[in-house]
Amino acid sequence: MRRIGLRNGEEIPVLGQGTWMIGERGNDLRAEKETLIAGIDLGLRLIDTAEMYGDGASEELVGAAIRGRRQDVFLVSKVLPSNASRTGTRAACEASLSRLGTDIIDLYLLHWRGGIPLAETVAAFEELKEAGKIRHWGVSNFDTADMEELLKIAPAGACAVNQVLYNPDYRGIEYDLLPWQMAHGIPLMAYSPLGQGGELLQSGPLIDIATRHNATPAQVALAWALRQPDLIAIPKASRKAHVEANARATDLQLTPEDLAAIDAAFPSPRRKRPLAMI
Ligand code: NAP
Repeated sequence: MRRIGLRNGEEIPVLGQGTWMIGERGNDLRAEKETLIAGIDLGLRLIDTAEMYGDGASEELVGAAIRGRRQDVFLVSKVLPSNASRTGTRAACEASLSRLGTDIIDLYLLHWRGGIPLAETVAAFEELKEAGKIRHWGVSNFDTADMEELLKIAPAGACAVNQVLYNPDYRGIEYDLLPWQMAHGIPLMAYSPLGQGGELLQSGPLIDIATRHNATPAQVALAWALRQPDLIAIPKASRKAHVEANARATDLQLTPEDLAAIDAAFPSPRRKRPLAMI
């Protein structure tokens, strides 16, 4: 599995596993846990979760999947903006640690920007780092202006990533946010890289490219996202066949013709668009 470096030089895999809507009531929890474990075995060793997902149920399932092999996984979780005050962040982190069954989170993100002053959340993140509860912190759903503001508040080099929506249907970040992050050495974590398994995977160009490479449209979507140098993609799969296919996406090399076909069907933006989020 290809890896990229965080600002402190630590390397993380470019492909991970999302867990939104995993672990929820009515789901086949055993199958979901086995899929996560299969993903880890296949090299998808970054797992993204959040206190919000299933009100903690996703973190609990992740905790069960990594029991006994915590050191194999780079664990990402997120605090809700409504909890992101100085004391609220600490309490939320403790609750997440307990559900995850670990004493440290590798990367802790502010899920999106809310009403609490950023400086308070940053101070709480720095305290958690100092206390050894988290190793890195970052943000999610931050547009370029938010990132500019954050960098004025945060200690130099402290923000490890920004996690945002990115797939061929949502390329707005290519206009300014992505180049800005590359210029500042802040990797981008792409969420919903498969367009949530919806229409994107039924689109003609993705199907044609997949056919040419003996691959699937999902693998094409992942290979397309991963063409960007400092980017991590976190597809969610609850089925084992899906996680196996996703793990193989890093072998797929798209040609200039493939990329041109995707550009024609899903053009890159020519002007600033507000950051899209789901
Ligand atoms: P996604 O990863 O784009 O798509 C997930 C869907 O694609 C599921 O229905 C899954 O099916 C299907 N799928 C997975 N692998 C496939 C394959 N190889 N072939 C065909 N279909 C496949 O959507 P997402 O869950 O929204 O995004 C991924 C992760 O990003 C989330 O789980 C979450 O961790 C994170 N996220 C973060 C934010 C944020 O605000 N920070 C927002 C959204 C998402 P099965 O489940 O049936 O296998």
